[in-house]
Amino acid sequence: MIKDFSEMDQFRCPKCNKLLFKYKLRGSIQIQIKCTRCSTIATLIVDSK
Ligand SMILES: [Zn+2]
Repeated sequence: MIKDFSEMDQFRCPKCNKLLFKYKLRGSIQIQIKCTRCSTIATLIVDSK
């Protein structure tokens, strides 16, 4: 259950710092996303603990 959206992590473009999306997860995830501003391919990897 998500209690508070402010607890969500933010993923920003490493080049221009544009906020690409917010996320909240348990477990692991690997994402590649193309920044809509500067066209950098940003990679997010979260390993489950
Ligand atoms: Zn960017």
